[in-house]
Amino acid sequence: NIKNTNKKAPPPLDFTQIQISRLPTVIIIGRPNVGKSALFNRLIRRREALVYNTPDDHVTRDIREGVAKLGHLRFRVLDSAGLEAEATSGSILHRTASFTANVLSSSHSLLFLTDARAGLHPLDLEVGKWLRKNAPQVKPILVMNKSESLFDANDSLASAANEMSRLGFGDPIAISAETGLGMHDLHLSLKPVLEDHLLRLLNDESAQENSCGDETSSTEVDESKLPLQLAIVGRPNVGKSTLLNALLQEDRVLVGPEAGLTRDAIRTQFEFQGRTIYLVDTAGWLQRTKQEKGAASLSIMQSRKSLLRAHVIALVLDADEIINARRSMKHAEVVIARRAVEEGRGLVVIVNKMDLLRGKNQSSSYEKLMEAVPQEIQTIIPQVTGIPVLFISALEGRGRTTVLHQVIDTYEKWCSRLSTARLNRWLQKVMSRHSWKDQAAQPKIKYFTQVKARPPTFVAFVRGKTQLSDTDIRFLTKSLKDDFDLGGIPIRIMQRFIP
Ligand code: GDP
Ligand code: GDP
Repeated sequence: NIKNTNKKAPPPLDFTQIQISRLPTVIIIGRPNVGKSALFNRLIRRREALVYNTPDDHVTRDIREGVAKLGHLRFRVLDSAGLEAEATSGSILHRTASFTANVLSSSHSLLFLTDARAGLHPLDLEVGKWLRKNAPQVKPILVMNKSESLFDANDSLASAANEMSRLGFGDPIAISAETGLGMHDLHLSLKPVLEDHLLRLLNDESAQENSCGDETSSTEVDESKLPLQLAIVGRPNVGKSTLLNALLQEDRVLVGPEAGLTRDAIRTQFEFQGRTIYLVDTAGWLQRTKQEKGAASLSIMQSRKSLLRAHVIALVLDADEIINARRSMKHAEVVIARRAVEEGRGLVVIVNKMDLLRGKNQSSSYEKLMEAVPQEIQTIIPQVTGIPVLFISALEGRGRTTVLHQVIDTYEKWCSRLSTARLNRWLQKVMSRHSWKDQAAQPKIKYFTQVKARPPTFVAFVRGKTQLSDTDIRFLTKSLKDDFDLGGIPIRIMQRFIP
């Protein structure tokens, strides 16, 4: 059992407060059919995977990315399986080459997967050779999948392992993606590399923290005055272009009933009440919409890119669709909303086409939406309370100012900085309010400081080895929100231990 092994050791590093884009990356590589997808699925369990399409010649191949959880470790995991759907000897490496070389350079660890039942395969040797040549900087962890039947017969496990070690990457870890055997060993092998990455990340933040000024510091840049980057995302036909037109107050974008009609040069920057707002990736999603097969899916890949570049994400939903559906949000919309928050962006949800609800059931429809949508968002994103939901009609130009005011408000909260002095005065008061589960073993927070803004990220320096529990962290997060008006945006609290 993974949890119990750390009893006497210092508390394990906390991966849960790190935004996804900064988590370490692990890629699964191996010849076809060794069980890469099976392992990927086990690692991400029921969490969503994002699928990227990589155009490769004329065929579209998928790379899947998900957030993996293994013991206390959390990492981004990439499954390259889709890339070799039609692979045969020789072509496999050719096909994966361009993708892999790119991704490998940014990966922190690599799982080289083989098949225990099939034994060492000529293609395994090829993969190994290729890795040595193209990724000499990454030390692969050799993993032997489908070992479940061999576990009972120790001899065959040992001889399979012996054979695999001929690949020259050390002794393999025997696992079974299907049954979950060997996951503890996998955890132990990944732990040093991934913790090392996290430590470096935390040290970088410590360095920032030292240069982080107080409220009184005159040299500090007021980040909330920097240009705001806004991404408008949503499925085709929900009214993104119409909203964009309304925001720009010019008919720059073509709008039509056909998804993807919009394209061409779009002004990507405008002024509102003396503030510059950049629109991120607008041309990108418009172009992408055009390629979409059918109008059903949200361009996840494009949205993800936007997510990483934007400060505030405006997710547009269609009121008319919601009123006729059981749930307010489609799967892709849920994925994007969650991702936005996990990436630490400000999220504003916009329910468009409210004019279509006019008519005999108008007031009950309005009520239904105004209750259902915020409720559903709270359910899918429980860690952030009060994500703003706006109801507009882009076509009639109603809601333009509301949208812009909300986007700016979210952005300013997202940029908030609180001085250490103020936080520690607050901490004293707030701690006496908290009912500790066990008074005697109560963790001692020596001090509390904000290490960065955008989104507000705090570190609690905890003395001794008693950790703050999830409940404690939730309490602190909620108190920060209530006391400093930070509702509706993601807030992170990490803990660090001091002797
Ligand atoms: P990929 O091509 O490397 O992604 O391989 P897949 O994940 O698609 O798996 C190939 C086949 O191996 C499938 O039929 C899986 O059900 C099977 N498989 C995957 N993992 C295991 C395992 O741990 N044990 C056994 N017995 N079969 C497995
Ligand atoms: P996009 O694919 O998300 O950019 O959607 P568009 O802006 O192209 O809009 C798709 C269709 O919905 C067009 O026919 C628009 O006129 C229509 N539409 C957009 N916003 C509204 C709205 O607020 N009310 C109504 N009734 N229709 C809208």
